[in-house]
Amino acid sequence: MLHKNPARAQSFELAFGQAHVFYPDATDERYLRHRRSLMSQAMAQLMEEDTPDPDEVQETAAEEEWAIEERISLNEQRIGAVVAALRASGAKRVLDLGCGEGKLISALLKDRDFSEIVGVDVSYRSLEKAQDKLRLDQLAPAQRERIKLLHGSLIYRDKRLNGYDAAAVVEVIEHMDFARLAAFERVLFEFARPKSVVLTTPNAEYNVKWESLPAGKMRHRDHRFEWTRDQFQSWATGIRERFGYDVRFLPVGPEDAIVGAPTQMAVFEENETYTTHTSHTSYKTYKRNS
Ligand code: SAH
Repeated sequence: MLHKNPARAQSFELAFGQAHVFYPDATDERYLRHRRSLMSQAMAQLMEEDTPDPDEVQETAAEEEWAIEERISLNEQRIGAVVAALRASGAKRVLDLGCGEGKLISALLKDRDFSEIVGVDVSYRSLEKAQDKLRLDQLAPAQRERIKLLHGSLIYRDKRLNGYDAAAVVEVIEHMDFARLAAFERVLFEFARPKSVVLTTPNAEYNVKWESLPAGKMRHRDHRFEWTRDQFQSWATGIRERFGYDVRFLPVGPEDAIVGAPTQMAVFEENETYTTHTSHTSYKTYKRNS
């Protein structure tokens, strides 16, 4: 029988309070395995989501998506486009929301202009992989200090995300239940409120161009939705109106005359003078809290 070992208790901050997870007394290897799965279960419970373990979901489906998109190394083009947009915004302190295994973080780390890079993910296992792939424990202290990895869900308000210059949200929203999107919008655009947000999502119209993707299917088993350009642009325009951000759209990857590019990107810039309308207050002018 395993006992709870208080030395191995771990607490993590959530928007609505602290969660405590106790890990059983066991060998280090078993402890690590347990810790991972308990963290994920606890997070899933706290999220009250009817979704399976976020770690499992990511692992099984990510490879399939990679295989479909590999031919044009879309992933690299996407990261290049996101880094360029972040750089153009003049951001120094940036969030990578839904950072996964840290590919964008790795690209940002190479550019000294980014003084602080914070990766956030709901999947604890992805964060562990990011930590390994980025070789955080081998980095020189000056480099190491630029990076922080946080375990958390983007559908809960989180004070740790306040006060940044920019946030990247790369191929994340389509992994959220459609019903949670409204909560995410407020967490990011109302509470965390970075000056710029660079957000990408698949362009569903382009799916007809993937030979290996059966008609009508989405690119990744965990995608809850994939949007056409019209759908994405009307969602982003809604953000502009409700939260006071200007928005522009850019295609990423080879652009087809009819169906567009495989990835669609929106760049939001806070417009401080905007008077906006939210469901909670009638009319409100957003002010930066920093
Ligand atoms: N941005 C990365 C990973 C994209 S995959 C890249 O481009 O490579 C989507 C990621 O979003 C996964 O790592 C998943 O765990 C994370 N994610 C999904 N829902 C989330 C939520 N509610 N809060 C935080 N992360 C979430």
